[in-house]
Amino acid sequence: MNRSEINEIKDLLASPKNIVIVPHRNPDGDAIGSSLAIYHYLKNKGHNATVVAPNDYPYFLKWMPGSKDVLKFDMQNRQSKSAIDEASIIFLLDFNALHRVGSDMQNTLEGFMGMFVMIDHHQEPDAIAKYLYSDVSICSTCQMVYHFLEKLDDVEAIDANIATCLYTGIMTDTGSFRFPSTTSTTHKIVADLIEKGANNARIHNNVYDNNSYGSMQLLGRALSNMVVIQNLKTAYITLSQAELNEFNYEKGDTEGIVNYALSLNGVIFAAIFIEDVDQQIVKISLRSKGKFSVNKFARAHFDGGGHDNAAGGRSEISLDATVSNFLSILPSYKSELLNSYED
Ligand code: 5GP
Ligand code: MN
Repeated sequence: MNRSEINEIKDLLASPKNIVIVPHRNPDGDAIGSSLAIYHYLKNKGHNATVVAPNDYPYFLKWMPGSKDVLKFDMQNRQSKSAIDEASIIFLLDFNALHRVGSDMQNTLEGFMGMFVMIDHHQEPDAIAKYLYSDVSICSTCQMVYHFLEKLDDVEAIDANIATCLYTGIMTDTGSFRFPSTTSTTHKIVADLIEKGANNARIHNNVYDNNSYGSMQLLGRALSNMVVIQNLKTAYITLSQAELNEFNYEKGDTEGIVNYALSLNGVIFAAIFIEDVDQQIVKISLRSKGKFSVNKFARAHFDGGGHDNAAGGRSEISLDATVSNFLSILPSYKSELLNSYED
């Protein structure tokens, strides 16, 4: 986003508008955090802003300020469509290709005649936005929203609600400030957000210390299902629909489980395969350490994408067949896997 684009956006936002804000399907802390931060910012400026999420999100994000006002496109379809119809600007946050909202909502967004503003940190953005702010080196879309407000010369507009939302997304997307994408700039921003009213201990507690008994038991099962392939520095986990049902699975319960596989000594590539009978897919999350790009791997084999060290994808064959397919692909990556990361 160059200076003149920033000036155009400033002009656009100088008078009240109907604005819709959209995160990706199955939104995570960064998607909801950035969406609600922009929501509070725009509302405070006098705009009629509405967050329309493609679908629901995990319970551990529902405490966030403004969460009650979020429309879900699949459940509140009529209201969502009329908000989109009436909007002149749509913010697309934490994703960069329209298919990431799911096919129903994608159709509606493809018919939108107004302007898209996209803020995102994933690789290879589609050219769909009039105003694109894309930077794959930044840890989170929430940090980018902070930079976006800097560009608008409006960091002072960050109140406690906005600070709380931005802090949450930065925290969740950096694995609590430990992934390599966490920089000294990230820490300076986080320090400022705390000064502006983000309560770091409470946010951490709300997100991470809210587990149900079932979700802990499910984690136990996932860990006992883990398979390690030592000679390829790889570990993977499976969870069948029957196992999810056994432990009263709720949305969000499997979040972060893949990181346990990556935490194993000697493992640099981790995968989790989660069966979803409703959608008739296997949802795949991939994580890596070092140079091995799970974004490329997900794009090449599992209709997905993401970042170099964290990506996702899907498969439309059975859970067992998906794992067999994965195991048959792996050996062709042997030298990359063995040379990805120096410990
Ligand atoms: P997760 O494994 O936590 O679902 O996602 C990890 C990263 O990959 C996130 O940044 C997410 O946005 C991205 N991602 C997850 N699933 C997909 C997918 O199916 N397609 C694409 N392009 N990105 C994905
Ligand atoms: Mn993100």
